[in-house]
Amino acid sequence: MFVDIKNLTYKYKNTSEPTIKDFSLQMKKGDIFSILGESGSGKSTILRLIAGLEIPMSGSISMNNRTIFDERTYIPPEKREVGMVFQDYALFPHMTVANNIKYGLRKMNKKEKMEKMEEMLSLVNLSKYKDRYPYELSGGQQQRVALARALAPAPTLLVFDEPFSNLDTYLQIRIRDELREILKQTGITSIFVTHDQEDAKVLADEIIYLENGKVIWKGTPDELLPYSQGSHLNQMKAEKMYNR
Ligand code: ADP
Ligand code: MG
Repeated sequence: MFVDIKNLTYKYKNTSEPTIKDFSLQMKKGDIFSILGESGSGKSTILRLIAGLEIPMSGSISMNNRTIFDERTYIPPEKREVGMVFQDYALFPHMTVANNIKYGLRKMNKKEKMEKMEEMLSLVNLSKYKDRYPYELSGGQQQRVALARALAPAPTLLVFDEPFSNLDTYLQIRIRDELREILKQTGITSIFVTHDQEDAKVLADEIIYLENGKVIWKGTPDELLPYSQGSHLNQMKAEKMYNR
């Protein structure tokens, strides 16, 4: 498997219960997965474990045939080739769009950086905006810059933490369609977390439903029945009880 995460367990120092319990995930190259769960269910913590910002108590993580974490291995975040896109985009406010995108391209020479930056801008349809500063862009445009910056170094895995929660509904719908197209076009393997069932259905090849740090359901968007969120969650809980 291209991404193979096995039995991760994690507890924050000041808590009694583990925050993440026995989390596993297998992805093929190019897969787009969504981790769906209510606020506090542990979604961001899982991304932090994958990125190397927190250290699991047990379990293993490998990507592209390289172990990045197990009982003997800890590869630091900057060497994991995991790109992150945050809810608030985290663009550098004092840098132009062009420099934001070039920032992560340390190993390239000047000409290569320039070409990569142009290629990424054209991919996200922002070529005309390269000399602007983040505050001169709309929320949706800032988000596309964040995406271009994360894609530029060609990470092994790209993770998104609630990427649409700062956008209004109209933009959210437009951008998530666009995002799926861009991700599939580049063939990048990605995980995005969301509390919004519609986001997960539109974007993901597979959905993992998380509750209290535990996976309680996994399946394709088609298998998620078109119920309203509340009744559907009750249905999933009922199935879980039934399958015990
Ligand atoms: P989500 O992203 O799904 O909203 P989080 O992963 O942020 O959930 O948080 C999962 C749980 O861990 C929550 O109960 C949260 O309060 C707790 N938590 C998050 N960060 C810390 C921390 N640094 N120290 C202690 N507990 C934390
Ligand atoms: Mg979160």
